Amino acid sequence: MSEIIFLGTAGARYVVAKQLRASAGTIIKIENSYLLLDPGPGTLVYLAKKKIPIEKIETIVISHHHLDHSADLNIIVDAITEGGFKKKGNLYITESAINEPILLPYLRTYLKKIKFLKPLTFYEEPPFKFKTTSQLCHTVENYGFLFFFPEGKIVGFLTDTAYFENLAEEFKNVDILIIYVVRITPKNGVLHLSIPDIKNLLTKIKPEEIILTHFGMTMLKANPFKIAQKLSEELNLNIKACYDGMKLEIK
Ligand SMILES: [Zn+2]
Ligand SMILES: [Zn+2]
Repeated sequence: MSEIIFLGTAGARYVVAKQLRASAGTIIKIENSYLLLDPGPGTLVYLAKKKIPIEKIETIVISHHHLDHSADLNIIVDAITEGGFKKKGNLYITESAINEPILLPYLRTYLKKIKFLKPLTFYEEPPFKFKTTSQLCHTVENYGFLFFFPEGKIVGFLTDTAYFENLAEEFKNVDILIIYVVRITPKNGVLHLSIPDIKNLLTKIKPEEIILTHFGMTMLKANPFKIAQKLSEELNLNIKACYDGMKLEIK
């Protein structure tokens, strides 16, 4: 059985800065292999706390270079490669993130492979299979993902973006959808999803399970669990709010 482990669920800057929720990344586990998605601040610490064997992480995927998605990348690369003693690890990252650069040049030589994410492209790093969405509507180059699990399930990660017309189209085939919902109400100029966007989206697609995560302050104040319950009743869908350390079994 495959598993998704949400080490952290923090979204906006204040929640990350005050660690009101952990800002660590997400682990995808298939068989005995581990993929790390978006190692935000604290990922190294939470991997250790959750006793996830860091040496088993072979693949790292970074949706975009905002720090809440990438801050621990350098130390993770150093850790999994034992300071470069073992050349290993496959990093999937945007070209603009490498140019920032969010990964120190000396650490790049430690990795086996660095591959740039391109829109609507399928990648295979056995046992992991995933596809990028089109470039999302965010302040920097950013992608969402569809992960294809051996159980036959497709799990979508709708990462940081403003709502746009074709968003539903990008995730129309997913069985489980993980939505990064930062705000309760929309705010002009903020390129993040809010609850009205989610309602809009979920009138067009009906995944069997929906997980809300990546919360900003307005979401935390309103209580994500209550919001998820209300949305579930209103839309007649299975919607859950994520919490730090939550495990999602893929069956
Ligand atoms: Zn973010
Ligand atoms: Zn972002």
